[in-house]
Amino acid sequence: MGLRRLSDNMKKPELLAPAGDLKRCKTAIRYGADAVYIGGRSFSLRSRASNFTMDDIREACAFAREHGSVIHVTVNIIPHEEDFDGLREYLMELQDAGVHAVIVASPAIMKLAREAAPKLEIHCSTQLSVTNADAARFFREQLHADRVVLARECTMADVRKITAVCQAQTEAFIHGGMCVNYSGRCTLSNRMTLRDANRGGCAQSCRWLYHLYEQDQELSDEDLLTIGSRDLMCAEWIWPLIEAGVSSFKIEGRMKTEYYVASIVSAYRHLIDEIWENHGPLSGERMAYHRRQIMFAENRQTCDGFYGGQADENSLIYHMTSDADVNHDFLGTVKAYDPIRGTALIETRNVFSTHETVQILTPDEMHGDFEITSITDTEGNELTSSRRPMVCVEIPVPWQVREEDILRRSR
Ligand code: SF4
Repeated sequence: MGLRRLSDNMKKPELLAPAGDLKRCKTAIRYGADAVYIGGRSFSLRSRASNFTMDDIREACAFAREHGSVIHVTVNIIPHEEDFDGLREYLMELQDAGVHAVIVASPAIMKLAREAAPKLEIHCSTQLSVTNADAARFFREQLHADRVVLARECTMADVRKITAVCQAQTEAFIHGGMCVNYSGRCTLSNRMTLRDANRGGCAQSCRWLYHLYEQDQELSDEDLLTIGSRDLMCAEWIWPLIEAGVSSFKIEGRMKTEYYVASIVSAYRHLIDEIWENHGPLSGERMAYHRRQIMFAENRQTCDGFYGGQADENSLIYHMTSDADVNHDFLGTVKAYDPIRGTALIETRNVFSTHETVQILTPDEMHGDFEITSITDTEGNELTSSRRPMVCVEIPVPWQVREEDILRRSR
């Protein structure tokens, strides 16, 4: 394998994770995110995923600081006139709270942020659909953006060119949901549900199943049509993105669960670290291992988006499978560990039984699989399976584990 040394002044890219609330934000940081992007209750898209009060944002920033991480806040609405009420004060409060960067989709908000809160970095949101170097240069030179989040529709050649010529940092998506209409430039959700995609309300109507008609004639009465996309999965593109000089690797998904955040951040943390230490691509065997770790979090079909060139119906469109979107691997969270008896108290989420093979997901370390030899409820009764969610049961665990570690099914 031809290994190419990275230049000495090259910085390791940041791993940027999503979080829909304070708990998921702390989980992302504990599992290795260098930065977390969150949404406040105002001025942010994905408003249903934006559960951070200003006090939460302050706490997130303090927790991030303690762990060497930083917080980015989305201020990415496409604003109408009335949306500017209180925006200046909000940006100043974010700055005071210790937020590192705001992710912005409007030139007017960029200008306002620069004036009102000059310590905040300004990151151009993917809603601006930057797919070429001139657009990136424009945002850097005219609007003083510190970073440009590249459109998911960029090919790897686009990423290389933009990163090489633009003075701003670039950020590229490496995992998560795709929008089939250039990141929210879409009125499908507005039309079907009166929920505006550009005001945070996207109902993901592209993922629904539709009957296809030509005038009054239904074209097929068997196959329902969907135009939703598969999820992006970029394990194979981490090395080319590092080589291209991209500053930040972004995971999509502020609506996702705590289990998803822990699993996906942990998987990419280990993959990026190993590639960085190797100064080059990994062996087929190591990549297969990392792909398996990533797929613990993922239950939708995946694709590598546009990095390899133009995507088409076969590579991009999601085709329904029977267990789509449901993940039963998350079995519970560790609430306590008894080192004398070697048992962990687990708060349950999904059904599991004795003799099943499981593993513990924990920050920093990767433990192997083990078999559940017994399950005991809080009354001391021996069970053959745990069937109820959100109750506590005790199981033997062969290693010391910590509170908030995750018990998951092995695949
Ligand atoms: S409905 Fe689908 S295509 Fe439209 S904005 Fe939402 S995710 Fe994108």
